[in-house]
Amino acid sequence: MVDALRRRGITDEAVLTAMDAVPRHFFLDKAFEEHAYEDKPFPIGNQQTISQPFTVAYQTSLLEVQPRDKVLEIGTGSGYQAAILAALKARVYTVERQEALYLQAKDLLAEMGFSGVRCLFRDGSKGLPEYAPYDKIIVTAGAPVVPEPLREQLAIGGILVIPVGEEVQYMYKITRVSETEYKEEMLDAFRFVPFLEGVRRK
Ligand code: SAH
Repeated sequence: MVDALRRRGITDEAVLTAMDAVPRHFFLDKAFEEHAYEDKPFPIGNQQTISQPFTVAYQTSLLEVQPRDKVLEIGTGSGYQAAILAALKARVYTVERQEALYLQAKDLLAEMGFSGVRCLFRDGSKGLPEYAPYDKIIVTAGAPVVPEPLREQLAIGGILVIPVGEEVQYMYKITRVSETEYKEEMLDAFRFVPFLEGVRRK
């Protein structure tokens, strides 16, 4: 899998090492287990998907994660992206709006020894103000616009990586330069499952 990521242009060695270390097959349904190391997304139930490895590598590289960074992820899904962030030694807070996925990912991450990852059942469109500010914020669902609370919850110098758009999303890397200034870069096109407001109980 890591060789395929290198061929597609991922060069961040720390990210590649983390992706080599975390077994992706644990995060997939048994039915897809033998395909876990192919560069493809897979269904994880509740109309959601685990992002394809290239997308995880791409977003994680943009975050420039440093050990001990406080990182907020919106869209826990399977928990795979959160595990990659934890493998990079970040302090991870991850938020999921679907209770069934939240419960499953929370148990799996604990069983796998990622006990430092804090999982929360929450609508992430308001961010997670009680632990703000964050050094990094990553959104793994396609948002029509950048939710204002996420910008506000970035530390100065912090980075927000978010796919923005309706049908197709463009990856945005937003850096908080000062209290009032943000630098925005629009990057490549992707297709994510939609970012939705409100929570869904089991
Ligand atoms: N990072 C995940 C990708 C899961 S797909 C992984 O590694 O598997 C995106 C997830 O975002 C879905 O589980 C979806 O339910 C969730 N999501 C969408 N909108 C959300 C919101 N407003 N708050 C929290 N989670 C959200």
